[in-house]
Amino acid sequence: MTTLIKNGTVVTATEIMDADVLIDGEKVAGIAAPGSHSWEEGAEVIDASGKYVLPGGIDVHTHMELPFGGTFASDDFESGTRAAAWGGTTTIIDFAVQVFGENVMDGYETWMEKAEGNCAIDYGMHMIVGDVTDQALKEMDMLMDEGVTSFKLFTAYPGVLYSDDGKIFRAMQKAAENGSTIMMHAENGIVIDVLREQALQRGETDPIYHSITRPPVTEAEATHRVIAYAELAGCPLYVVHMSAKEAVEEVAIARNRGSNVFGETCPQYLYLGWKNLSEPGFDGAKYVCSTPVRSEDQGHQEALWRYLATNDLQIVSTDHCPFCMGDHPVHGTQKRLGEGDFTKIPNGLPGVEDRMRMIYHGAVGEGRLSLNRFVEVTATAPAKMFGLFPQKGTIAVGSDADILVWDPEETHVMSVESSHMDVDYNCYEGTEVKGEIDKVIARGKVLISDGEYHGEKGDGQYLKRGTCQLLI
Ligand SMILES: [Zn+2]
Repeated sequence: MTTLIKNGTVVTATEIMDADVLIDGEKVAGIAAPGSHSWEEGAEVIDASGKYVLPGGIDVHTHMELPFGGTFASDDFESGTRAAAWGGTTTIIDFAVQVFGENVMDGYETWMEKAEGNCAIDYGMHMIVGDVTDQALKEMDMLMDEGVTSFKLFTAYPGVLYSDDGKIFRAMQKAAENGSTIMMHAENGIVIDVLREQALQRGETDPIYHSITRPPVTEAEATHRVIAYAELAGCPLYVVHMSAKEAVEEVAIARNRGSNVFGETCPQYLYLGWKNLSEPGFDGAKYVCSTPVRSEDQGHQEALWRYLATNDLQIVSTDHCPFCMGDHPVHGTQKRLGEGDFTKIPNGLPGVEDRMRMIYHGAVGEGRLSLNRFVEVTATAPAKMFGLFPQKGTIAVGSDADILVWDPEETHVMSVESSHMDVDYNCYEGTEVKGEIDKVIARGKVLISDGEYHGEKGDGQYLKRGTCQLLI
């Protein structure tokens, strides 16, 4: 069966062209000037006149049903990937977790079981390694054969996910040897724990103190440190969810000296700040995540947009990890675990469905990035960074037919009512954004069309990934 998307404007990271796209089965089979072919015969025809035809979004940082702080992220692989599709994302990479004291492979298998047969869109896995033992280092090699080519460690969360510098360095040496990428959550968790304890002793218990006790220097210092170790070990380094301009400056400096250092940010850091954390009552808890959203007065948001434009930041992901404000039918009170003690608020917020709209809005709608760069930071660079290109991340003959038909003239109002994530609030409630998603096609199947969902769980397949394709 073939599908023809005709009369649209095809946009990739490098081109903008009036072209028709032929889909045969799961793949793009042809791209040609309108009227120059006879593909219409026998094809299902989608008229994309006046619309953009874009590669499906790739969100390389999600945490479906992640256990955190005594509860679980409220989206599971089924609801979370369906919501992703609604928001124009056709691939996610989630994180399997090594439980401390257990084997890495056991954690991997546990997460694969959670995902298998449940996903609406294609998915890959990163592996979170906490306990870097000789056994764990061997298992990093085994995972490479499973298509898990990136390993995440933490300088944050002492006693939970934290690895000391020696463990981090040993994992980096292994990555240099087997060609994988080290991902770092870079915040100085040891110092942050001191600041948190002192804040609580002073009676500072509101959500805003979550950000105040994780000041920019704690992110910048940890970023500097892990860059130094990665350069010494000789492995590629990807710093996740960057929010402080001082930390991204460290990435920029390392890139200027030719190091394979990369950084991502997320929509929450481009739009949210202390105004949100200070919302009345306990509402600030909605925006508690780590790294934290930062003070609007320090220029972080504008700096992050600028770093995206100059390619010092390469990717916008979400760190999607939602917890409910009210009572979740399965997980109970979630964010409210931290009422009266901000250190007990589960860290994380929803975003997998919001990312493409919010970034298009700020980038193209408000003129901060070009249309090509929007595609690059949301799809093409994510695919290249994590070894999925050109199967994913572009529109080209032979690529998977993961395609969005995007209406630049329509608008969309962000709200919990209109979203599909399994959570009871939206971070951007009431914000009107430019651009609306008309159709979402994943591996040739129309998942969303005219506001209707046509997919089912199990449509998504596991992606065995290659290694980083952005190396200098
Ligand atoms: Zn995360």
